[in-house]
This record gives sequence, structure tokens and C-alpha cells, in this order.
Amino acid sequence: MNEQIKLQILEKIEAYQTIVVSRHIRPDGDAVGSTKGFTQLLRDTYPDKQIYLVDDDFSEYLSFCGGEDSAPEEIYENALLIVIDTGTRKRISNKNYDRAKEIIKIDHHIEADPYGDLNWVEDFRSSACEMIADFCVTFQNRLKISPTAATFIYMGMVTDSGRFRFEGVTGETMRLAGAMLDFGVDYETLFANLYTEDVKRLRLKSYVYDHLGITEHGVAYIYMDKAVQAQFGLSLEEASDVVSDLSKIKGSLIWVAFIDNPDGSIRVRLRSRFLGINDLAIKYHGGGHNMAAGATVYSVEEMWACIRDADVLLGEYKSTHEGWL
Ligand code: AMP
Repeated sequence: MNEQIKLQILEKIEAYQTIVVSRHIRPDGDAVGSTKGFTQLLRDTYPDKQIYLVDDDFSEYLSFCGGEDSAPEEIYENALLIVIDTGTRKRISNKNYDRAKEIIKIDHHIEADPYGDLNWVEDFRSSACEMIADFCVTFQNRLKISPTAATFIYMGMVTDSGRFRFEGVTGETMRLAGAMLDFGVDYETLFANLYTEDVKRLRLKSYVYDHLGITEHGVAYIYMDKAVQAQFGLSLEEASDVVSDLSKIKGSLIWVAFIDNPDGSIRVRLRSRFLGINDLAIKYHGGGHNMAAGATVYSVEEMWACIRDADVLLGEYKSTHEGWL
């Protein structure tokens, strides 16, 4: 069935002269990689079309990928908008998205809002970039796939899968990643950009390990309040990144970072292995994936309630399962 949707997407692309590509707010490696890669693919294949990549948001750590375009408002009425890696319309990082003539949604989140005129959603994929890689391979005889496009697509596959480690990585993921390598990925520059850390970040890591909490059943958590953000001179994004520092603690199958937002709410970043935390995220006004989800709490009391719920969830899991670590 999805073979049919992919073909319909290609036909729509070929029918439109003006195409806008967009992604989700607070873009991550997959959002940037999929949209940059797809935009590059379209520009290389259809040099006579007008292709814009519009993103009203920005990610400091991905600034090495370069900035985005702005598209004049008047182009939207005849434009095809392709939104990638964005589950719900409220997360689309393009204030003009609903002016487009037609919308195509390409996404790997659990379907909650089929906002596209065409929706290609495969929630079993480890990244949206994996879907873009699949699109490239499916239509490789009709598309021009440059090393630049392949490198962006590979970037999203690497980052969203935790370097091919998370749930959702399959043989197909690796075959598609291999196909991207064959198109000419510059992985040395890519990995240096993605994974070298400056001393400030390492000192922050040291703070996180000194100050994290661990509940009775092993939930690891850290609260990055405004004072800590100021102490280390952190952007919101830098403060939010610390969730990854909690991922390697033995027995802590759930880990959570709480980050003070400027508006007084607290961003919650939930991660897990072996068991799912999406229902917990939904309870706290969020959602996402089975083992990586986001939520928001509105007070320190609610933050503690979320930690207690996570602890109960993990306690139940540990008492009924074996083999976790
Ligand atoms: P984050 O911790 O913000 O990186 O989110 C983890 C995953 O959950 C990402 O794939 C997000 O797209 C998704 N997510 C985050 N916040 C929400 C939300 N409020 N509603 C639905 N999905 C979310």
C-alpha cells in the first residue's frame, strides 16, 4: 500500500512548480537531516522548480548544517508543502503551513493527526530519514542523489537511532544506511560535527552526574531549573540535551530530564529501554514514541508526581520481567 503512496508523492512533486519543505519545531538531527536531504534531492533532480526549505525555528548544535530560506507568503497558494518528521500540525515549524495548496505528510511518529492531503506514515521506522532513504532507493532511477543529500539523510538515520542502537533499527535500516554510504556520505566531517564536545559541555555532564536523582525502583532524573541554566550559561536547547547523559545508568530503565521553560512551565524529556513510557508522556500533556517521548508539567509538584508515576511503572515492570538491565 505504501508503494502506492510513495508513487503518488513523486507524481505530486513532479506536478508542482513550487515546493516548500518544512519540519517540526525544536528541530533535531532527523528533522534537519530529512528536510535538508529531501530539499537537496529535489533541487538536484528538478533544477527548474522553485524549492524552499522553511523553518521558523533553529537548533544551535546543528548550525553546521547551514541556515534555511524564507519563502514569500504569496507563493503558498500554488505551492506543495511537504512536512517531514512532524506528528501534529501544531508542531509544524512554518507559520504559513495552512496557506499551501496541498500538504504531504511524511512521518515516523505514531499517527495522531493526519493533517496532509497525502499522509505517508510508517511508525515502525527508526527515523524519518530512513523513509527518505527508502524513497531515494525506490526511485533512484528517477532522482539525482548527491553526496550532500546522502550525508544529510545519513545524519538523521544516525542521530535518531542513537547510532543504530535504539528500538526500531532493523536489517532494512542498515541496508538503507548502506545505500546512503554508497551515494557518498562524508562521515568523518559529519561525526566530528556531531560528536565532539567542548569543555563547557563536559563540565555540565559532570554537574549532571553529581546532581541526578534515582528513585527507589531506579528512575534517573535531573531538574535543570533556571538557576542551573544561568550558572552554566545554557540555552534551553543545551539544558535539554542533558537527557542523553542519563541513558547509560545500569538499572535505570527510565530516565527523565526536566527543564524550566521561560514561561514557567517545565519541559519533560522521557526516555526508556525495555519498557514503554509513551502513556506516561500522554498523561502529562505530551506524547511521542514508545521509548522516547516529551511532555510538559506546570509546577514542581506535578514534576514530582510524574517522577512517582515513572517509579511505579518501573517497579511494576521490574517485578514482572526478567533480563532487564
Ligand atoms: P523530545 O524529548 O522533545 O526530543 O521528544 C521525544 C519525541 O517525542 C520526539 O520524537 C518528539 O517529536 C515527541 N514529542 C515531544 N513532545 C511531544 C508532545 N508534546 N506531543 C507529542 N509528541 C511529542
